[in-house]
Amino acid sequence: MEDALKRAGELNKLKIGAILNILGEHYEDRKSIEETVAEYIELIRAITDRGLDASISIKLSQCGLMIDEDYCRKNVEKILAKVKETGNYLWMDMESSKYTDATIRIYEHCLKLYPRVGLAVQTNLKRTEADVRRLMKEGGMVRLTKGAYKEDPAISYPKRSDTTVNFSKMLRYLFEECDNFAVATHDIDMINESLELGKKHDRKFEFQMLQGVREKLAAELAGQGYRVNEYVPYGPRWLAYFTRRLKEKPGNIITMFRSLVSG
Ligand SMILES: Cc1cc2nc3c(=O)[nH]c(=O)nc-3n(C[C@H](O)[C@H](O)[C@H](O)COP(=O)(O)OP(=O)(O)OC[C@H]3O[C@@H](n4cnc5c(N)ncnc54)[C@H](O)[C@@H]3O)c2cc1C
Repeated sequence: MEDALKRAGELNKLKIGAILNILGEHYEDRKSIEETVAEYIELIRAITDRGLDASISIKLSQCGLMIDEDYCRKNVEKILAKVKETGNYLWMDMESSKYTDATIRIYEHCLKLYPRVGLAVQTNLKRTEADVRRLMKEGGMVRLTKGAYKEDPAISYPKRSDTTVNFSKMLRYLFEECDNFAVATHDIDMINESLELGKKHDRKFEFQMLQGVREKLAAELAGQGYRVNEYVPYGPRWLAYFTRRLKEKPGNIITMFRSLVSG
């Protein structure tokens, strides 16, 4: 945690915010879940005490979703209570499509309790356009991503080019009709498209990127006055995250290591 907080401080010097995530997912034992929930609460306290420009992003499968939805919602409520007390933001990652419905249900529940809650959505899924339109009408906040999980072709766009077309379509919708959204991509074309759309529509939006990827561009955008947040994952349980990133960029093992906070 100390390393992640230090990284947040370094990013803040570049006018970049940090979104901290404790690595680990798919917990089936209550001990790991409850330790993670306690650590997120501690993390929010440390962010506030140090006056950092940082928030957290949680995975519901590390908060009890594998055990029971009610149990998970209660754990998320504990984290949310601390976030609310400090006026911070709570982001939720989106995991594979097996968990989309439950994740959205818990997200919508939290949104009724506190408005500064954001949810990652994945443009590789065909359902996402309808989900985004509904969530934004409910006052939601979304993080637009392409999606990191391999999905069944019946419910997804298996070709990355089709996922990108859908990403572009969702970008146009968000800029034309919404505020409070995050463009989370390293795809230069999508970033440029966002910059163009941002000139036409005066919207409250931010860029989000993963630690270790396009850091120079992130600093340039922040320097130009755009709101930029870097997603900083930390902790010993790095294998699943590392493997997903490796599949996206198989040749680039060095970047993979830079994408994790090191002690
Ligand atoms: C802040 C943030 C939060 C995210 N949260 C979620 C989430 O909750 N759920 C989820 O499913 N997905 C999440 N993702 C991951 C996302 O879905 C994509 O898998 C990932 O961002 C790669 O897609 P891309 O949009 O960058 O485009 P791509 O088309 O995959 O990549 C565009 C270009 O970016 C560069 N690039 C991309 N990835 C890497 C990499 N790992 N290393 C080096 N260069 C790279 C390459 O030059 C590549 O050509 C998140 C991404 C970000 C940035």
